[in-house]
Amino acid sequence: MSWSFPIGRLFGSELRIHVTFLLLLGWIAYAGWQAGGSTAAIAHTLFAIALFACVIAHEFGHALTARRYGIATPDITLLPIGGVARMERMPEKPGQEIVVALAGPAVNLAIWALLGLLSGTFGAAGSGSNGGALTGQTLASLPADLARVNLWIALFNLLPAFPMDGGRVLRALLAMRTGRVTATRRAAQAGQALALLMGLAGFATGNLILLLIGFFILMAAGAESSEVAMQSALRGLKARDAMITSYETLTPEDSLDAAAAALIRTTQHEFPVIAAPGRRPVGLLTRTDLFAALSQTPRPREVAAVMQRDLPRAGPEDELEKVLQLLADGAPAVMIPGLQGGLLGYVTRENVGELMVMMANRQQR
Ligand SMILES: [Zn+2]
Repeated sequence: MSWSFPIGRLFGSELRIHVTFLLLLGWIAYAGWQAGGSTAAIAHTLFAIALFACVIAHEFGHALTARRYGIATPDITLLPIGGVARMERMPEKPGQEIVVALAGPAVNLAIWALLGLLSGTFGAAGSGSNGGALTGQTLASLPADLARVNLWIALFNLLPAFPMDGGRVLRALLAMRTGRVTATRRAAQAGQALALLMGLAGFATGNLILLLIGFFILMAAGAESSEVAMQSALRGLKARDAMITSYETLTPEDSLDAAAAALIRTTQHEFPVIAAPGRRPVGLLTRTDLFAALSQTPRPREVAAVMQRDLPRAGPEDELEKVLQLLADGAPAVMIPGLQGGLLGYVTRENVGELMVMMANRQQR
């Protein structure tokens, strides 16, 4: 995730902090200082840090449970709205997904119970709100305040709507009967309805934070739904099914004028660059890179100076999902070399898109 930087590693996952999170901490300290001087500023900041430690613990609840099913979590990012654990993949067995989803809120419930026991007062869920919790606490009330907010975090995350943990539980329960795509669509619709309610409530009460959370939920619910639909449309397809096999190539020694002529002559937007001995693919010249090179002074002479090297490769029998992942990581194309080292074909985002349109039409019939 951009605009975030690593602060360390814990249990095999990299911990990252988004810059906006630091802005939030600064704002909390400033608001505390304005309300009650330096003591209040310290109390507010400590509270915020403790709160986000609980959010991290929540994410590790997911991450460490997922690890039991062999799923790694490369990084956990702290945002002002909470944490995001980026897992390698989501468990697809409904039972496993439920356990992983519930592990997060379970951590907050455990913290709530523990702090409640320690401070001797179980903070009631009704005596405050997420927004209100950030104002008015003192050092003495910190454990009780923290306990109450943990209860809120657990309850909020258990709402049965995407992208909350409760939405994953709902999706998993529905998936046992209807299949994953339909189940995800339903859970996402629940998320969109919830987002709408929160947005309306935010408007009605003038609560900007509620409005923002509603907006975030709306975005995340839609994204999850289309991603799952795409995954399922591509399931069972191989790299071979999506690869371009009819194309013109360039050599590293070709001039940029020759490349420009090829761009005009064909409908291709990218040209595999093939080295003469063994016809090995050594790179790819994209239209964007060619245009940029043509406007440079002095202008590079040869394709070799402009082409992209070290493109990701996949085998013709590899899952198309793997190819798509490589493209999603930013590569302009994935090369598919043959057994002799020559080029069998290549896959771009555009032609995977074309394939998906056709698959979608086929599924409707
Ligand atoms: Zn969670």
